[in-house]
Amino acid sequence: MAKQLSFVAFTQKFATPEACILHLEKIRFKDGEYCPHCGRMGKIYRRSDLAYRCSDCGRNFHMI
Ligand SMILES: [Zn+2]
Repeated sequence: MAKQLSFVAFTQKFATPEACILHLEKIRFKDGEYCPHCGRMGKIYRRSDLAYRCSDCGRNFHMI
């Protein structure tokens, strides 16, 4: 488990929500994209509102 950053350190490190999301995405999906609900890999779509959707179970999830 990665060390948690404080909120202040977090916001200083990542200037935009997108930069933050991309960083979390790299950590969570380092072994491949997967759905936290059903565990399926490889069919995850990023939505315009920075949420993700699994095409197998159809559920949405967020990085944070
Ligand atoms: Zn799923």
